[in-house]
Amino acid sequence: MGTNPPDATPARVRAVAASRIGTTLTDYDQHLTAGEKWCTDCKEWHSHAAFAKDASRSDGLQVKCREAAKKRPRKHRIITCTCCKREIPARTNEWCAACFIRWDQAGRPAAGPPLPRPIDEVNADRQAALARGRQTQLAMAAGRMEDFEFLLSTGETNRSALARRLGVQPSTVELYKTQLRRDQRKQVPA
Ligand SMILES: [Zn+2]
Ligand SMILES: [Zn+2]
Repeated sequence: MGTNPPDATPARVRAVAASRIGTTLTDYDQHLTAGEKWCTDCKEWHSHAAFAKDASRSDGLQVKCREAAKKRPRKHRIITCTCCKREIPARTNEWCAACFIRWDQAGRPAAGPPLPRPIDEVNADRQAALARGRQTQLAMAAGRMEDFEFLLSTGETNRSALARRLGVQPSTVELYKTQLRRDQRKQVPA
């Protein structure tokens, strides 16, 4: 198990594998016979002992040696972003993902990522947008209330018909009715 003698794999297949790593079939076979395995990460031959076991593979060994496998977590190493100064896992030497995206979206300026906007400013913008949305909703609702009153004045009382003509759900028509009663009650003392 795990020795993978050259004769176990057809020569044609071994020749393809050999050319893929830039060597001859003879050289390839010599390494196999010597009990070595090509490491896809280091791009060199190691003894079988250098590889961890992997039962799912035909030779029972991982494609990368143990040392190469250990190197992988470095992709997510912690850096202090030179832009936003946060200590955060990152893939580049300098910037966190957020700063990299800002830099990319700004057209990759030579000066680096534009500074992040202060969170207060971002929140203020969000609040303003929400308020605008709320005002629009209120304006639309106000218009519908007028339409609702008009339709009632024409003698339309059917809830489904009212809902259809107003472009709202029947449950909303109920809300309009409640609102109208409330408005009328307010108007009486005044
Ligand atoms: Zn290796
Ligand atoms: Zn950053």
